[in-house]
Amino acid sequence: MSRSDSATVARRERIFRRDRYRCSYCGEQYLAAELTLDHVEPRQRGGDQSEGNLVTCCRACNAVKGGEAAWSYLARNAEARVRFLEAAASCDTRHARPVWPRLLRAIEQAGALGSGRAASGRLRPGAESPPRRADK
Ligand SMILES: [Zn+2]
Repeated sequence: MSRSDSATVARRERIFRRDRYRCSYCGEQYLAAELTLDHVEPRQRGGDQSEGNLVTCCRACNAVKGGEAAWSYLARNAEARVRFLEAAASCDTRHARPVWPRLLRAIEQAGALGSGRAASGRLRPGAESPPRRADK
């Protein structure tokens, strides 16, 4: 992906603005130069380049998270999960609408699997297939 591509730059700026220049994982605000876009659903798992699949992520968090699926990373990081959900609740949902339902569902499932209890209490066994494992 070329950083000089104007459409790509415009999309980056749009998503940064949508997320208020705040990292979705640590909740800190940064300058655009310190931010990257993170794929909620990694590309190797079928995630696309749509704005619904991209969130603002600082370089530090991006380095830690790497290519892991967002729900998987958030399942292991309770603090990041709380911040992520706060960001989801406060950001401009006109743009976020495509991503949050499927992401929140995945997080709820992962959280339920990780802690042994359903966070929402609405998790019905067998209602949806569990998230596929990200290992090769
Ligand atoms: Zn961060």
